[in-house]
Amino acid sequence: MWFFSDEEKMLQDTVRQFANAELAPKIEALDHEEGFNRQAFHKMGELGLLGITVSEDDGGAGLGAVSATIAMEEMGAVDASTTLSYLAHSILCVNQLGSNASPEQKRKYLPKLISGAHLGGMGMSEPEAGSDALGMKTRAVKSGAGYVIDGTKTWITNGPNGDVFYVYAKTGEGRRDVSTFIIERGMPGFSTGKKFSKMGMRASPTGELVFEKVKVGTDQRVGEENSSLRMMMKNLDLERITIAGISLGIARGAIEAATRYAKERKQFNTPIGAFQQIQERLAEASAWYEGSRALTYNAAKLWDLGLAAGKERSMLAAQAKLQAAQMATQVALDAIQILGGYGYTREFPVERMMRDAKLIEIGAGTNEIMRLIIARQMLGTEVADALTAGL
Ligand SMILES: Cc1cc2nc3c(=O)[nH]c(=O)nc-3n(C[C@H](O)[C@H](O)[C@H](O)COP(=O)(O)OP(=O)(O)OC[C@H]3O[C@@H](n4cnc5c(N)ncnc54)[C@H](O)[C@@H]3O)c2cc1C
Repeated sequence: MWFFSDEEKMLQDTVRQFANAELAPKIEALDHEEGFNRQAFHKMGELGLLGITVSEDDGGAGLGAVSATIAMEEMGAVDASTTLSYLAHSILCVNQLGSNASPEQKRKYLPKLISGAHLGGMGMSEPEAGSDALGMKTRAVKSGAGYVIDGTKTWITNGPNGDVFYVYAKTGEGRRDVSTFIIERGMPGFSTGKKFSKMGMRASPTGELVFEKVKVGTDQRVGEENSSLRMMMKNLDLERITIAGISLGIARGAIEAATRYAKERKQFNTPIGAFQQIQERLAEASAWYEGSRALTYNAAKLWDLGLAAGKERSMLAAQAKLQAAQMATQVALDAIQILGGYGYTREFPVERMMRDAKLIEIGAGTNEIMRLIIARQMLGTEVADALTAGL
């Protein structure tokens, strides 16, 4: 990318080396057994990747959205699962604490999360509230000097094995009355429920967080009561830009594998790369990847420069995520086609890449919700929501 600084290029090299050394050799087995590369998180801590967007004063690397997206792309090119867990830890949990927690909360939680001693996650989605996140039913009710929390969160990345969770709960009657609480494994009444077995992203554990009369003090609440909506939405935008980086990584990995294969594999005594239909797939994949890459890093750069805010920022993030997620699934499917029968087996990584790519069309807001955000900005809510408004 033409605007990467020298620092960003160095980060790219460092993460690429780390991914090839620490992630690539293990992902095949971890994907098969639905394991988790915990060791990689200790190494990421040593490299300063876990608090990538947290200020240096708070013990982080003090970098921005472009750097975080670079880290996602480089890791995503070899192991999208561990990268998804890294995103949940660094962007959904650590970045939120760094941006919104009190000095005491930061001192208590950030050092272990940034070193990799603790694993973090974020709880927003619920069994009956996915796309309609504000329909959440988990409630924190005032009780004495604190709150009692009841409810269930689901689909939580790092849920089964995380230590610290950034959790949203309703604290009032209105849809927008959302507050945030820091929840630790081991708190009485808090447990991690079912772990899901998944089609892709299999080395990124996903599960439930269950709250049964969990008592927390006000010192576990982040920010003011009923005031979390703005920071939740802002973080969703950053999540969408950075998860688009994982899609870029998957696509790049698939294109590299397919290009290598097209040069080596011979049929009719000719490398298959000489066939125009193979060339067409490779050329289209390359152009589509570069287009998504420009869109994603543009959104990240505008974030870092503070040049996009509010609805405009949400639209840019939604455009990047929609485009990159669709692109990666299609490119991974095309790579399978180029590899033929081998592409359909576990002998090559492209079938895993396709299974992983599909998740990004669902997580962090589905493709449909991305289109809704973009259409609302283009048409205005009066037109875009006319049908539902009339019901
Ligand atoms: C592997 C994985 C990891 C995840 N990690 C986390 C995490 O760490 N933390 C967290 O809080 N959540 C997490 N999620 C949850 C994720 O954000 C939700 O799955 C997602 O928002 C969709 O919600 P849902 O699955 O309930 O689908 P639903 O909302 O039930 O949607 C079902 C279908 O209806 C469509 N739909 C819904 N509303 C509309 C509409 N208005 N217009 C058109 N179509 C619509 C959807 O696009 C989809 O196709 C994760 C999910 C997965 C699968």
